[in-house]
Amino acid sequence: MPRRFCAICGKILDDNDPHFGMCLNCYLKEHPLFELIDKISFKVCLDCGSYTRKEEWIEPKKNQIFSIIEEAIYRFLLKSYLKENNIDFFLLPNESSFIYSSKDLLISCDLTIHGTLKNDIKIKHQQTIKINLNYELCKNCSNLRGGTYFLSIMQLRVKDKTQFDLIKKILDGTNELVEKIFEKDSKQYIVKIEDQKNGVDLYLSTNELMNYIISFLRTNYHFILKRSKKLVGRDTQKGRGIYRLKTLIKFLPIKKKDIVSIENNNYIVENITRNKIVLRNKKNTKLIKDYSYFFNNKNYFLKKNLEDV
Ligand SMILES: [Zn+2]
Ligand SMILES: [Zn+2]
Repeated sequence: MPRRFCAICGKILDDNDPHFGMCLNCYLKEHPLFELIDKISFKVCLDCGSYTRKEEWIEPKKNQIFSIIEEAIYRFLLKSYLKENNIDFFLLPNESSFIYSSKDLLISCDLTIHGTLKNDIKIKHQQTIKINLNYELCKNCSNLRGGTYFLSIMQLRVKDKTQFDLIKKILDGTNELVEKIFEKDSKQYIVKIEDQKNGVDLYLSTNELMNYIISFLRTNYHFILKRSKKLVGRDTQKGRGIYRLKTLIKFLPIKKKDIVSIENNNYIVENITRNKIVLRNKKNTKLIKDYSYFFNNKNYFLKKNLEDV
């Protein structure tokens, strides 16, 4: 068999160098396993570590700068190669290249990307790229910091001071519920709580959260509820209006076993159903009233609760 030589470097070829008249090294230089751009910039959120190149912020699996970089490189640069799934990648940041800002944030580094063909480990390639990181707050975090990210308002109201304990209890229960929901979905939270004369206003990050809270309240308390909505802007991407939903919740000012006076007759609150109140007097006369009846002070007079005596 005549000797063959590499057309590029002149090396004598053997059986391991079957590549079109080139040695393996020269072949891989001519036909690299992958080719990437030399440098890439992307934004990282200061608070949550979400990253983006254009518009959409992507939440990282782990809020740690090197895992964010790795995740971003896989997503932004290696995606098409990963789809083919024939190369094993290994990413190695070059420590001597790290540049930190005055606030100790990594703003630039070199990263070497090693790749090996899955069924032939001799076929490999490496490329070093420069990474530039810009820090800002993602939409969610800037809204969170600014306290303006709310889509819905919940107004919790009681009749007067005597029911403030109830408001406190409701707030405690609501906070506990929202914390649990937030753990699973960080978009759900109470933006702020504002004291009002007869209760509080809750500013909520989503309408969905409002519905969670309402169903929690329904299972524990009696109230009347009024919903309203107001157009506050336009979602240009989806081409539809953005509404701020408002829900007013007025808690019933009486509870079971309360004694109330109606037209000079004393009644005991025997039962409270979903929308009615069942009352009974000493002569065993039954009276059924709507919730709304008790929101008008002129209709009745609260005497006391049997359990309080
Ligand atoms: Zn060669
Ligand atoms: Zn963020």
